[in-house]
Amino acid sequence: MKKKILEKDKNFIWHPFTQSKLSSDPKIIISAMDEKLTDIEGNEYIDLISSWWVNIHGHGRKDISEAIFKQVKKLDQVVFAGLTHEPAVNLAEKLSKLLPHGLNRVFYSDNGSTSVEIALKVAYQFWYNRDKKKKKFVAFNGGYHGDTLGAMSVGFSSGFYKPFNDLVFETFFIPFPDNWKGNNSINEEEDKAFRYIDSIISDNCNELAAIIIEPLIQGASGMKICRPEFLNKVVKKFQSNNILVIFDEVMTGFGRTGKMFASDFLDVKPDIICLAKSLTGGCIPLAATVFQEKIHQEFVDLNFNKTFLHGHSFTANPIACSAAIKSLEIFEEENTLVKVKNIEKIHQEGLSLLSKNPIISKTRFLGGVAAFDIIGFDKGYGAKIGEKIKNNFLKKGFLIRPLGETIYLMPPFCIKQNTLLKAYDELDKELYKIKI
Ligand SMILES: *Cc1c(COP(=O)(O)O)cnc(C)c1O
Repeated sequence: MKKKILEKDKNFIWHPFTQSKLSSDPKIIISAMDEKLTDIEGNEYIDLISSWWVNIHGHGRKDISEAIFKQVKKLDQVVFAGLTHEPAVNLAEKLSKLLPHGLNRVFYSDNGSTSVEIALKVAYQFWYNRDKKKKKFVAFNGGYHGDTLGAMSVGFSSGFYKPFNDLVFETFFIPFPDNWKGNNSINEEEDKAFRYIDSIISDNCNELAAIIIEPLIQGASGMKICRPEFLNKVVKKFQSNNILVIFDEVMTGFGRTGKMFASDFLDVKPDIICLAKSLTGGCIPLAATVFQEKIHQEFVDLNFNKTFLHGHSFTANPIACSAAIKSLEIFEEENTLVKVKNIEKIHQEGLSLLSKNPIISKTRFLGGVAAFDIIGFDKGYGAKIGEKIKNNFLKKGFLIRPLGETIYLMPPFCIKQNTLLKAYDELDKELYKIKI
């Protein structure tokens, strides 16, 4: 059985972000429950990355699958242009109540990249509809926003897209002042970023459509964390110069930072916010790009040319919307954010244990996310050190997926305290075994 599946996998599958020539055979996962994954041989793995950052309440939630089953029997899918349905409108209302005030116009799609693509296109057409030509975007160094072309353009500095250099549109990249325990140059780093921002704005004042930001945590570039006071100032600088602000909360949304949204740590609010990954609790794809009403109003006109002509086959799929509604209800029923706070405490403890090892640097955490870097080995997304630690740790029954020399833990919120403590303990032992 195992051999057959692997053979078919080899013959027919192209895996994401994977160089098959350098990778060992994938594990065949046959089931998942809570924070555990089970493979075809009966081995169990603790899912310390929430299945690529999506699963928040844990796997195999009965209440979410019941919501899905109920919905699929009633209305499985329907075109969303010209028609509407209850799951979509109820979810939109729920989201607008949870989001910072004023973000209340919801455009649905299927994944994080499309939610970003929609944000960028709307930002661009917003100015076009006002007879303004603003075609440049601003983003942060290392920012990651998805793998479609627009998202790649604003995420170009992440380093994943070298072959596409000639294909992406022009974007300005600001240095990202990431912080960690014991960083004593953060003020200078932030000042440097501010100076850069001021010069971009003054040189291109009438040409900048929007800035896109992963608020507080840059995910794919290595779980880099900045200070909320820094972002408050950044957002004010752009908004006061008539430049739209897009928050990409695809990773940070839905409790990951310890609050419902990273935005909730800030005094400012974005004009546009992108949501996906954990929106449905992480069991079925759905995304939403949510706008301030003033943005939407720029598209409401008797002139058809002002329409946003964009849509996806599965826009607002009713099954996915029902799962999302249930996931949001769970936050209230189970006080989910308290669970995240408890995880944060263990992260803090675990990191201080790990940081005694001299190969560990830049420990950082926020809410359900903890990260650190390994020093003294190779660096970059393809770094062998990360792969080695990952493979060794998998043998112990823990699934992680290092970003180069950065190791991070981001478990589902249902993880038991003892399990997470044990993960830190085992990781600590594993890291002491690493030899240069
Ligand atoms: C994962 C991610 C995306 C892309 O989402 P997909 O669903 O993988 O297309 C965009 N932005 C951020 C911040 C992400 O972490």
